[in-house]
Amino acid sequence: MSQPVSYAIRPKDPRAHIYEVSVTVASPGPAGQILEMPSWIPGSYMIRDYAKHVVAIRAESDGCDVALRKLDKSRWQAAAVERPLTFVLEIYAHDESVRGAHLDTTHAYFNGPCVFPSAEGHEHAACVVEILPPEKPLGQDWRVATSLRRKEAGQYGFGSYEAADYAELIDQPVEIAPLRIGEFDARGIPHAIAIRGHTRADMARICHDLQTICEQQMALLGAPEDLDRYLFLLHAPGTGYGGLEHRWSSSLVCARDNLPLRADAKVTDGYRTFLGLVSHEYFHLWNVKRMKPAAFTPYDLSEEAYTSLLWVFEGITSYYDDLALVRSGLITPASYLELLGQTITKVLRGSGRLRQNVADSSFDAWTKFYKQDANASNAIVSYYAKGSLIALTLDLKLRSDSDGRVSLDDVMRECWKRWGQSGEGMPEDGFESVCCDVSRLDLADFFDAAVRGTGELPLQPTLASHGVDYHLRTTASRADKGGKPAGDNELPGPWLGVSLAETNGKLSFAAVYNGGPAEAAGVAPGDVAVALDGLALTLANCERLLKTYREGDELGLVIFRGDELITTTVQLARRPQNTCYLELSTDCDADTASRRNAWLHES
Ligand SMILES: [Zn+2]
Repeated sequence: MSQPVSYAIRPKDPRAHIYEVSVTVASPGPAGQILEMPSWIPGSYMIRDYAKHVVAIRAESDGCDVALRKLDKSRWQAAAVERPLTFVLEIYAHDESVRGAHLDTTHAYFNGPCVFPSAEGHEHAACVVEILPPEKPLGQDWRVATSLRRKEAGQYGFGSYEAADYAELIDQPVEIAPLRIGEFDARGIPHAIAIRGHTRADMARICHDLQTICEQQMALLGAPEDLDRYLFLLHAPGTGYGGLEHRWSSSLVCARDNLPLRADAKVTDGYRTFLGLVSHEYFHLWNVKRMKPAAFTPYDLSEEAYTSLLWVFEGITSYYDDLALVRSGLITPASYLELLGQTITKVLRGSGRLRQNVADSSFDAWTKFYKQDANASNAIVSYYAKGSLIALTLDLKLRSDSDGRVSLDDVMRECWKRWGQSGEGMPEDGFESVCCDVSRLDLADFFDAAVRGTGELPLQPTLASHGVDYHLRTTASRADKGGKPAGDNELPGPWLGVSLAETNGKLSFAAVYNGGPAEAAGVAPGDVAVALDGLALTLANCERLLKTYREGDELGLVIFRGDELITTTVQLARRPQNTCYLELSTDCDADTASRRNAWLHES
């Protein structure tokens, strides 16, 4: 067996955001050891070229410098040496996102791909990593939170940690800060949450609710054999939202105010958002971290890995995240339907759903979903949002067409058996074939239409078959996310067909919708809005002003494109009915009610 690769990471200069990382290879490659930084991080499908943050690199062996040659944007090769070889890198870390690395005088956070290069030929060797403190007086109240196994370190302490191989090393982010830590067991497995940020959140309640979610998710697919620990790393700033899944942990960002304070028993909208995020990232420990597309088995982090199945891994996860909240009783069915109505609204608001299917959206995630421009809503569909609606329609269709014999739960259990427990990758046609095998139904037309097609999903009849009424209305205001009926004072004005943004005090057209009045008037994304019908336009008055007109009215519109003034005429149109809300049917028959009950309460 090859000797372990030894890493060490030290917050060398927190004020300049510089980590020092060393990598020691006991028996370097005979032709000269190659060292490589990953180009992307699993779970976030965009080339990020983490090597760009390496600001210095050198190599040494037996106390002597060893020559280094840069091979390409991400790789270096050392001159051949026969004794152990150490690379020493300085890495700039000032990205606070869940997929980055960050260091300042208040904390240190890093994802492995941002700071740990791989030693070519040694990817399967065990890894040891020494996590070192910053120079005093910094770091005296910092604790280390990671799912990496402790080798020689106290609990939540600095010291050495280990991983079975390079892939495991870089799949376990590390947060080092003055942390609030809560611990709980879920089905006897130790879980913890480590929170960074000024928060007085009720830790006992959070632990209780997280335990409920984790046990609910475990009830569906069973705890994986190697799940012997799990850690939620949570950063709670004033604003923000995001998450990234890992095998034994996840990194979350959620606004501080979304967390519950003591004696606050309600599930506020913000807390529901947080619980949904937790549920989403936790479900990934099965769906995408252990059961993966063949294209990710193993991950090639040097270039894009293409699969048309991201909708299965993100869409189905997005379906089960909120479903687990209602099934476990953390939220009511009405609250769940509000969330579902918001997801439907998100999909309906972009005409991109009529242009791009979710298989293509998955495949092109690297250049389209992750690199959205002003035309995104016209050209692309989210494999998260539409993927979750496909999961919903598929689940309810399976239940109806099999007379309650089969549901998506059964499909997921079979997928897990085939590809999760074996660790083999799911082939591109794997999910569809399991659906057909498990249900013994002919689902080709469904997959052609829903996954490979761009038509509307049959949401209204599908939901009706499970005792849910589907309603569409017009959007009432910019803040209207859907999910609820419009309020009494929310009668909207006619439609301009744009989304507005205010930057540096200027109101501009962020997006111009295909087929809308602004597009017909020649408005382009990035144009600055000056006046409508002779009145100055601001973000604050635009909605109010529009309400004073009717569809069909023709108004003068003045814009700046660059520094040139353009005057045009816009004919206001009828607002599209693209905002959805759902209600529990009050008059459904007993069969329908029992189908609804099985869907929302089973696991
Ligand atoms: Zn996800």
